[in-house]
Amino acid sequence: MQKLILNVKNDVKTFFLGINIVKKVFGKHYLYLKYFQSILSSISPYITVYMAGNVITLLTQKANLDVLYRCVISVIVINFSIDLIANIVKRKCSILESAAPFKHEALLTQKALSLDYAKAEDPKIVSLRAQIAENSNTKGTGVMWLAKSSSEILSGIVSIIVAVFMIIQLYNASIFKGNSFGLIINSPVFTVVFTGILFVLIFMIIVANQKNSTTIFKAYDSSSGIDSFLDYYSEKILNENVAGKDIRIFGEESLIKEELIRTIIKPLKKSREKIFKSNVTYGLIPAIITVLMGGLIYSYVGLKALSGSIEVGKVVEFYGIITNLVVSLTVLATQCSYLKSNNSYLNQELEYFRIPSNVSKGSRRINEIDLNKLTVTFRNVYFKYPGTENYVLKNFSAEFLPGEKTAIVGMNGSGKSTIIKLLCRLYDVCEGEILLNNINIREFNIEEYQNLFSVVFQDFDLFAFSVGENVAAAQEYDSKKIWEKLEQAGIKKRIEEFPLGLNQSLYKSYNDEGIDISGGEGQKIAIARALYKDSPIVILDEPTASLDPIAESEIYLKFNELSENKNTIFISHRLSSCKFCDKILVLKNGQLIEKGTHEELLFNGIGEYVALWQAQAQHYQ
Ligand code: ADP
Repeated sequence: MQKLILNVKNDVKTFFLGINIVKKVFGKHYLYLKYFQSILSSISPYITVYMAGNVITLLTQKANLDVLYRCVISVIVINFSIDLIANIVKRKCSILESAAPFKHEALLTQKALSLDYAKAEDPKIVSLRAQIAENSNTKGTGVMWLAKSSSEILSGIVSIIVAVFMIIQLYNASIFKGNSFGLIINSPVFTVVFTGILFVLIFMIIVANQKNSTTIFKAYDSSSGIDSFLDYYSEKILNENVAGKDIRIFGEESLIKEELIRTIIKPLKKSREKIFKSNVTYGLIPAIITVLMGGLIYSYVGLKALSGSIEVGKVVEFYGIITNLVVSLTVLATQCSYLKSNNSYLNQELEYFRIPSNVSKGSRRINEIDLNKLTVTFRNVYFKYPGTENYVLKNFSAEFLPGEKTAIVGMNGSGKSTIIKLLCRLYDVCEGEILLNNINIREFNIEEYQNLFSVVFQDFDLFAFSVGENVAAAQEYDSKKIWEKLEQAGIKKRIEEFPLGLNQSLYKSYNDEGIDISGGEGQKIAIARALYKDSPIVILDEPTASLDPIAESEIYLKFNELSENKNTIFISHRLSSCKFCDKILVLKNGQLIEKGTHEELLFNGIGEYVALWQAQAQHYQ
């Protein structure tokens, strides 16, 4: 019993927490409007049956025509007004409903953006988010379902209250006939038996509906993941055509077709068949029972009329009220049973929105330190990625002095980019500390701290926005400064050729007039973005992979020149690009193994740098 109470408590809690998300997705006023509409629509049928009953009574009593007209006109006016208001409210609700899926998506995206970088790329969290989006889009469960069902629950409750109230009124108005037939029909036993049978039939409908919904949800679950596959295929083939060349050259069409059939078409067909079967099997039962109940109610009310307990006009009223009551009870009970199934989807969503931020946000103001003289110190830093076992940085210590140019070199996977991610506070260190002017970087306000960095990441990304917006990372920008930075990055001439110049959109993702650019051109724009930001710490994390050696050398020299007096960190595969640096750190398997200038490392090093240098130099001899 205690467990049951706890479960109900949890379900109610989930329901109300879900309602808070519904308000955000559908708008603050949506639920009020929807509930108002539900109340109107649940009252309206009772007004109709009440008035219809009255009209028939008046007819049978051969009432004055004036009274009759007045009654008919009141039915029409009241019903028309209710329908009109309900319709206006319904239209307003449908506008809010049509925008809801997009607002829901925007809300999920906002949450993803607010997450720590580490969390945002955690496969478990990524898959949770995908699951929520898929449930909502394909099954309409979670928040979407709650919005619809909470108003149906309210409508059911209001309808039941009105029906019970009217039935009591009708009972009170019944004329009890003392004959033996009247005695049986009006006896409490007869009423209890009739009500009992109705409840058994209602219970059967609920069970059938619940079985149907469970089977349908299970069928949907068995085909889950289809959304992610579709996203993958549309990105690779349809939208970005990333794999277009490979598919054609390697004749991969049938490979992809087979995979599409295996991952999407077959599971979808199987799940739709299950849904169809369930709808036929379990869907028929409520339909048959409803017909049976109709007959039963008619018989009951008819017998009451035959016994003379109610007037002919009240037969229509009685029948209408009991039918409405039965429908409302069924809807209410079915919706409440769905509530449980939906809560498991809703809980996924609540879990996602509850994910906390782990990276320390800090509160110390960055202007407490001298921004013209920045010293970054890594002290005995150990780091492993969340969810992994092995340390990718082990006891790493290094110092980056004001105005110093430092290169970090080493084989692929030696931990170079990880150092940059830790420095930029995309992750927190596991052990050790990183200091900025002797203050732990975790203490600084994270936004202000991250503003100190201009980084061109190895896997940088540009958006399908205009060139100007991409470089400025904002909608408002200084055009003169943008052109200057584009020139410094060596891409000004190409942008000048664009018909819309700085206003030209990149890529064709959602703009036909967008211009596709090469990887190298993209990198130059990303470099211009870093130059435009003009931060005191500049980092180039192997941003030149798509550039030819001459362009790379030019970019490094340009950066060297532009970042005069700034702390600059270069990461490159090509050691020749880093020769000019004040200090070179050589990394191997997450450990710092050598450090010094190019000359020092060539002549006094332990050999790792020399080996790397010679391996590359032979290509140029
Ligand atoms: P480098 O920049 O020297 O090529 P990285 O710093 O990118 O090396 O990677 C160091 C190690 O960390 C590699 O073994 C890589 O596979 C691993 N690694 C990088 N990013 C992640 C991540 N997000 N999750 C788990 N392991 C990662």
